[in-house]
Amino acid sequence: MTAADIFANASASLNVDLNRIIENYETLAGQSKNANCAAVVKANAYGLGMDNVAPALYHNTNCTTFFVANIIEAIELRTLLKDAVIYVFNGLFEDHIDLFVEHDIRPILNDLAQVALWQEQLEPCAIHFDTGINRLGFSEHETEQFLNTRNDLNVSLILSHLSSSDEPENPANKHQLQKLQKISNTLPNIPASLCNSAGIFLGEEYHFDMLRPGIMLYGGNPRTLPLPGGIKNTFEIKGKILQIRELKTGMSVGYNGIWTAQKPSRIAHINVGYADGYLKLNEINGKVFLNGEIVSVIGKVSMDMIAIDITDRIFDKISLKDEIELIGSNITLEMASEVSTLGHYQLLTGIGHRLHKNYKLEAKA
Ligand SMILES: *Cc1c(COP(=O)(O)O)cnc(C)c1O
Repeated sequence: MTAADIFANASASLNVDLNRIIENYETLAGQSKNANCAAVVKANAYGLGMDNVAPALYHNTNCTTFFVANIIEAIELRTLLKDAVIYVFNGLFEDHIDLFVEHDIRPILNDLAQVALWQEQLEPCAIHFDTGINRLGFSEHETEQFLNTRNDLNVSLILSHLSSSDEPENPANKHQLQKLQKISNTLPNIPASLCNSAGIFLGEEYHFDMLRPGIMLYGGNPRTLPLPGGIKNTFEIKGKILQIRELKTGMSVGYNGIWTAQKPSRIAHINVGYADGYLKLNEINGKVFLNGEIVSVIGKVSMDMIAIDITDRIFDKISLKDEIELIGSNITLEMASEVSTLGHYQLLTGIGHRLHKNYKLEAKA
């Protein structure tokens, strides 16, 4: 056993199937006849690990363009991928101009002040037009001003972001589409981009020239609508039993004793807590998967552990070596989301740094 193997056993694990992420990319890219498909890998690839996810996509698909939130993530990505195109959503701060240039990273300019900062640069940039989310991007007024003034920017992409793409019936989608179409018509030679994951499924007219999926690459669902066919779960979180305890009737477990044994009970403590991203998942009725069975989480979540009730399980079959699935193919993201009342975005990006990450990537046959 190497030291790395020994350390791998010390914490719970996050197992990521990179082939599944690649397959999800192909599924998403396949939705559009003409648009290129980029990958959004901000927030450490939604918690799954940008250092493995981004190279896997770059080397095994046609994905050459990546989006991150800030310059720090972008520089980290640049060290992984020398030739990829990298855009930064959060825009341009004056102090960061040299970093963007030095690392060949493209800022997404969100207002006219940022345009002024990049005016002298020959390197490409993107422009974000706000068409209704009222978050980042040029306001309507600034958009008009920009379109009516000559500039020397080297603009490689224009983009906008949908506020309600996960609600296909919401009229905001159409309004935003029409606004971007209008802007795009006045800048006909510049590629345009509108769709995040859910936006891709609003229809071909939304696709423009580039898709920007994030959550669905990782198998997450933006909303409680059924996940589009072909999008697969890409990861599992597995813990181990730290200790098994026998309780008499009336004994309670964990902080504030919110769970009390109603009969002689056997419980097991598992090495995953809220510091690992196991947020609020139990107080009511969290579940884990152990030896082919769904088992209830009891009591409060601690920083480093949770407890499960194994009273009615066949004890001979339970060992300290057993792996407990907290999220995966049996305890699905849907189930975890329902119990925790957290969305898939929050569940994924909340995955703790302490988990030992394992990656599977099989070469194509
Ligand atoms: C995060 C983000 C995306 C990706 O969204 P998903 O819903 O995760 O697919 C795309 N565009 C912008 C501007 C974003 O901030």
